[in-house]
Amino acid sequence: MSSTAGKVISCRAAVAWEAGKPLSIEEVEVAPPQAMEVRLKILYTSLCHTDVYFWEAKGQNPLFPRIYGHEAGGIVESVGEGVTDLKPGDHVLPVFTGECKECAHCKSEESNMCNLLRINTDRGAMIGDGKSRFSKNGKPIYHFVGTSTFSEYTVCHVGSVAKINPLAPLDKVCILSCGISTGFGATVNVAKPTKGSTVAVFGLGAVGLAAAEGARVSGASRIIGVDLNSSRFHEAKKFGVTEFVNPKDYEKPVQQVLAEMTDGGVDRSIECTGNIDAMISAFECVHDGWGVAVLVGVPHKDAVFKTHPMNVLNERTLKGTFFGNYKPRSDLPSVVEKYMNKVLSEMTDGGVDRSIECTGNIDAMISAFECVHDGWGVAVLVGVPHKDAVFKTHPMNVLNERTLKGTFFGNYKPRSDLPFVVEKYMNKELELEKFITHQVPFSEINKAFDYMLKGEGIRCIIKMEE
Ligand code: NAD
Ligand code: ZN
Ligand code: ZN
Repeated sequence: MSSTAGKVISCRAAVAWEAGKPLSIEEVEVAPPQAMEVRLKILYTSLCHTDVYFWEAKGQNPLFPRIYGHEAGGIVESVGEGVTDLKPGDHVLPVFTGECKECAHCKSEESNMCNLLRINTDRGAMIGDGKSRFSKNGKPIYHFVGTSTFSEYTVCHVGSVAKINPLAPLDKVCILSCGISTGFGATVNVAKPTKGSTVAVFGLGAVGLAAAEGARVSGASRIIGVDLNSSRFHEAKKFGVTEFVNPKDYEKPVQQVLAEMTDGGVDRSIECTGNIDAMISAFECVHDGWGVAVLVGVPHKDAVFKTHPMNVLNERTLKGTFFGNYKPRSDLPSVVEKYMNKVLSEMTDGGVDRSIECTGNIDAMISAFECVHDGWGVAVLVGVPHKDAVFKTHPMNVLNERTLKGTFFGNYKPRSDLPFVVEKYMNKELELEKFITHQVPFSEINKAFDYMLKGEGIRCIIKMEE
């Protein structure tokens, strides 16, 4: 238990008092988490365009004073009643759209629009009791999309928090909690371009560039970036964008420009601007017969999508997505692992030679396998998995000459080999002292559980004789 558990915490938060006025750093009070809530210490947060729309409140309903912020990483400080799957010290990413794991949407493989916790930009309070956990001089301050991460401490519903690998650097993976997962998922989970296809991306901010990255890894042969700001084009090349179109350079509508460039239309388009005209263009620029357009940008509250119905009848598909259709609690940990694999692979010029997994966590098992070098890498699984865990990887990872093995008791034959291992210790070839960090008498055996559950120390020796 942290010393602050159950108490009000005073901390700094960036409060928006009025639409479009600079945020002011203030000392605020953050109440303890109630039933099914957790209080987080936010370590890193970033800014997404959605925060800006609601702070400007030009095309959105105003709600002030409010604490914005929804792309962040932090650590659980304390948990409220009934919370069993998170504990103080867990590393987490809060997400603007939650996952109760029980409703029809959470149970559907296709949807991430949880009935209970889906994004609601007009709600400024906790769903449990309709009250805010933030206040200043006794006056409540509104929450934003269940996250409000522009505060050193925040309170979230447990369903809006994804627990991730504690080794993942929070200053990097925090951006996976909105923009990057949204854009990447919009392409790979929703638009699903096939190898060799042509993909248009409207808007080349973080979300659009992540969508382009998704097209690149899907093997798209042409990725056409569309933006009103040509200065985005240079950066976009790094994300696999092969051609650029600035609608301002043409008299005719951009959908027509794209249709001419691609002999009838692109195979997939992903709109990441929030601009209604770009949404319509993104739909109308896809090829008839098979084209799919995905809307991601958050529209002005009074926007209306208009197109001739023949554009739909001609066998085009229009879809939309929040958070790239990822289920935040179920899918985000493995998205973080994708980043971790890349880190290891980049640190080691293609992968490690050997990896040994000792966690019991299925995502870590998959990472441990995927981080070994092709051609010769060997991964060994040691951790005991959850009873329903499933090991999944692309078969190409195996074909590319990686080896996956498992072992119990380090493959030692207990009666034949163990005496020799003891001898190794006696000969000082094997050090054991450094593993033994705690010792308790038998009567205090529960302390050993505490150490392990809190992740303190390595091995605790329980002395039977007191
Ligand atoms: P950003 O401001 O960094 O990028 C937007 C880009 O779109 C800019 O480069 C801008 O020049 C360009 N643009 C604007 N109007 C355009 C038009 N008519 N045609 C072509 N380009 C145009 O924003 P971001 O943080 O990358 O977010 C992009 C959008 O995605 C925003 O609308 C944001 O609210 C939304 N969003 C949606 C979700 C979701 O889950 N659906 C999640 C995150 C962000
Ligand atoms: Zn966002
Ligand atoms: Zn749900």
